[in-house]
Amino acid sequence: MFVLSACRRVMLKLSGEGLMGDREYGMDRAVIEAIARDVRSVVQGGVQVCLVIGGGNIFRGVSGAAQGMDRASADYMGMLATVMNALAVQNALEQMGVDTRVQSAIPMSAVCEPYIRRKAVRHMEKGRVVIFAAGTGNPFFTTDTGAALRAVEVNCDALLKATQVDGVYSADPRKDCNAKRYETLSYTEVLTKDLRVMDASAIALARENRLPVVVFNMHGNGAFAAVMRGEGRYTVISEEN
Ligand code: UDP
Repeated sequence: MFVLSACRRVMLKLSGEGLMGDREYGMDRAVIEAIARDVRSVVQGGVQVCLVIGGGNIFRGVSGAAQGMDRASADYMGMLATVMNALAVQNALEQMGVDTRVQSAIPMSAVCEPYIRRKAVRHMEKGRVVIFAAGTGNPFFTTDTGAALRAVEVNCDALLKATQVDGVYSADPRKDCNAKRYETLSYTEVLTKDLRVMDASAIALARENRLPVVVFNMHGNGAFAAVMRGEGRYTVISEEN
């Protein structure tokens, strides 16, 4: 049976919007510091942590394409946005005394390390938080897929997806008061019910590699650490249901 508190290495996926706080765009320093404190407490508890951060608070490829840009170019801009977010979170973590490395899928040697799987694993074994930037490095993908891919590659025990609500619902609970909340789901249920908690390629990758996905609400101080202790409300997506 999947038990969160037994996980030794986890991937935390944050959306770019999760860094905005009450803003319409960009990043909120206080929100980033709260996230960094939360990550630090999990690392101090002896869990190896890696992160993937989206870029939706700065730029999304689809919005660029909607305004007439070539989709691939717009997606590269989106990937660059994730590098900015990675550097912001890295900075906050380092200021709190947490060792980190940013590894980008698009090599940017003056800014961060390139993605090297074995090096990433070694960093985590040494207690460093590894932030994987630039998604998969390919246009037409999302950072959810990047998170699932890296989590599988570096042998994470679980992928924790931070959202704005406390799990997976049948519809958006902020818009539909009849939305049903799921405690557990199988990968196939997520796909067949078209639950859109993550994109289908990320769920398919998790299913193929039996990577449990935990969906939880990042709001509130210490939400990530609480979920890692198995506390609070969250939805587990795995094969067992
Ligand atoms: N992106 C991409 N390939 C990837 C990951 C991301 O092209 O492997 C681009 C895409 O344009 C996307 C943007 O980067 O819209 C930001 O990522 P995402 O939308 O996943 O961020 P989030 O919604 O998590 O903030």
